[in-house]
Amino acid sequence: GYVSPYSSFVTKKILDAGAIIVGRTNMDEFAMGSSTENSAFFTTRNPKGRDRIPGGSSGGSAAAVSAHHASASLGSDTGGSIRQPAAFTGVVGLKPTYGLVSRNGLTAFGSSLDQIGPLTKSVTDAALMLSIIAGKDENDSTSIAIPSTDYTKALTGDIKGMRLGLPKEYFVKGLNDEVKTRIIEVTKAYEKLGAVITEISLPHTEYGVAVYYVIATAEASSNLARFDGVRYGRRAKDAKQLSDVYNRSRTEGFGDEVKRRILLGTYVLSSGYYDAYYMKALKVRTLIKQDFDNAFKQVDAIITPTTPTTAFKAGEKTANPIEMYLSDIYTITVNLAGVPGISVPCGTDIAGLPIGFQLIGKHFDEAAILRLAHAYETR
Ligand code: GLN
Repeated sequence: GYVSPYSSFVTKKILDAGAIIVGRTNMDEFAMGSSTENSAFFTTRNPKGRDRIPGGSSGGSAAAVSAHHASASLGSDTGGSIRQPAAFTGVVGLKPTYGLVSRNGLTAFGSSLDQIGPLTKSVTDAALMLSIIAGKDENDSTSIAIPSTDYTKALTGDIKGMRLGLPKEYFVKGLNDEVKTRIIEVTKAYEKLGAVITEISLPHTEYGVAVYYVIATAEASSNLARFDGVRYGRRAKDAKQLSDVYNRSRTEGFGDEVKRRILLGTYVLSSGYYDAYYMKALKVRTLIKQDFDNAFKQVDAIITPTTPTTAFKAGEKTANPIEMYLSDIYTITVNLAGVPGISVPCGTDIAGLPIGFQLIGKHFDEAAILRLAHAYETR
């Protein structure tokens, strides 16, 4: 029920551009989740299959666009939370390069990973939204000064000679056959449009999920320390002394998944384990980033599935956090490297559930992935 006393940078930009905001959307608590089942309110259903979840954490934002309640919405993406729900609900979802969009006014989860981005019905709308929300903000020290860009200019339809990399590490056990077949069809469509597909390697992919859950939880445990019942958020009623205010406000206020992550994050940052877990994860993060740097010496963009499966059933993964975490296996390394990624709808499985593919670009080369995405969409 918290109502922010000020508008975020992106909200201001959107209002200034003349858009009408019709409402707030449901999401996983503190953006921690892959199914919107960690919401403090209720589980949002997938408009394309009502027994399914819409993905998460920005599940409400994706469902609102998928169900035609809004032309566009915003989500935040720390490990896949724009792209994964976009894929599950059949809409376009773009995670910009880290630093392109200001995080001022966004509740921090993993500050070195979080980015705000649009969920839309078309690539053109994603380009329009990005043109509005991107830009330098004095109130976010990680926001980068780049000249204001009209990304719709990148949508030329001409992708002849563009080089697309297909990472071999993404086509392994756990990838659903129907999703795999569809992604191969997409690469064929790209070849027809004049792009050149080559196999590439991102050798540290297998460490992505583990590294993410060390770094993201470490940052979350630090970020969430501010919710002490004194300065921010909910305060426990009738607490008798200061330690009680802290203890009870946090015990009553945070949900189970959030508590799990605070515990894990505090553990990996504690003095005896800092080097073994947190430092190690930072080093592997650098290797993951180098994988992308090396790949981008050969190709202009990388093409992958967005998710290993289509939308799963509500309740299917709630008892098994690791299974839930694995639904972001194809999106997480993109945040660790800070590069941009977009999920584009590419048909459905036999049950009619949407499938999405992901295009990953070089730092600040949103133009390339938008051009490629648009060329496929309008082929
Ligand atoms: N599902 C991932 C997590 O639970 C990613 C969430 C996100 O991108 N906000 O952390």
